[in-house]
Amino acid sequence: MANKDYYKILGVERNASEDEIKSAYRKLAKKYHPDLNKDNPDAAEKFKEINEAYEVLGDEKKRSNYDQFGSGDGPQFSGFNTGGMGGGFDFSGDFGDIFGDIFSAFGGSGRTRQRTYRGEDINVAINITLKEACLGTTKTIMVNKVEKCDKCMGTGAKNGKEFSTCPDCKGAGRVRYQQNTIFGTTIREGECQTCNGTGKIIKERCPYCNGKGYTKLQKSVQVKIPAGIDNDQILRMNGQGNSPTRPGINGDLNIRINVLPDKLLERKGNDLYIDIYVPFTTLLLGGEVEVPTLEGIFNLTIKELTQSGTVMRIKNKGAKILHRETRGDLLVTLKAESPKTLDKKTKDALKDIQNNISQNQYPKYKKYLDTNKEVK
Ligand SMILES: [Zn+2]
Ligand SMILES: [Zn+2]
Repeated sequence: MANKDYYKILGVERNASEDEIKSAYRKLAKKYHPDLNKDNPDAAEKFKEINEAYEVLGDEKKRSNYDQFGSGDGPQFSGFNTGGMGGGFDFSGDFGDIFGDIFSAFGGSGRTRQRTYRGEDINVAINITLKEACLGTTKTIMVNKVEKCDKCMGTGAKNGKEFSTCPDCKGAGRVRYQQNTIFGTTIREGECQTCNGTGKIIKERCPYCNGKGYTKLQKSVQVKIPAGIDNDQILRMNGQGNSPTRPGINGDLNIRINVLPDKLLERKGNDLYIDIYVPFTTLLLGGEVEVPTLEGIFNLTIKELTQSGTVMRIKNKGAKILHRETRGDLLVTLKAESPKTLDKKTKDALKDIQNNISQNQYPKYKKYLDTNKEVK
């Protein structure tokens, strides 16, 4: 997971244009180029960082992923199990299926072909509260995963060295075999099945993984949830997924965020919303209303003669904006509530009040009275 602020590294605004980013990069790359900074040991690191930032921000697609997910890589996952997530996270299938390694072949020219085995991704979902999503948090989750056995360095052989030469290919990793066809006999060459092309077989098995080279275990993983993340976004932790069952690279751990609805506040984008009913007299006479915020109670002052339905904006009390310093606002809609019961004394007093206020003091109501009420 990249948590670096690439914009800060390049010293540009978040809405900087492609040209601005390119020019900032060139300037910094020149300034920190290791050849020009032989006396400054930090320059090389800085140079690396600048290049890393430009690799993402200089690429339209990667930049858009970074803005959204905090990483240059987009979310590449599928098959989330959305049911039964009560425990806060969910394993993406059982272990029987995880062992199907993804195999990819690079380059096409015959024998020099290189193979990379990649472990499966692990997809989990976690539940977080609205407050955690808006302000960020760190979560510890338990993940069932396949890891390379460290006792044998993933080889499956005791201590990683109890091998003997494969008897079938004599260590070559490839074997020739004869094939009889109607056109005659041909000699073909292929990977040795006995040693999977490694030329070696295990002489004594690693006792910890029973010769498999990998182990299944439950591991706790700390996940830093960036402030401002929203529902259904995915955090990708590169290389934190399953190890492949042959030497290769790990899959990723993809964490889908499920934001639990809050009882009081509703989020739309970066702003938070709440409707509060207050006594109609508070709107008439003014007063104070307690408003819940992510950081406790805020005392909102209401001016006298405030209309029902008035929206008041409390600045910077909304969600933090992903990878930025700024925040959204909290918008409070004030609604008048009339009493459910009235005693006679109060009712008489209200009748007095009613008679003392003329229609001219209710401009909207007065306009409505003057409206032609024929529905067409
Ligand atoms: Zn062999
Ligand atoms: Zn082992």
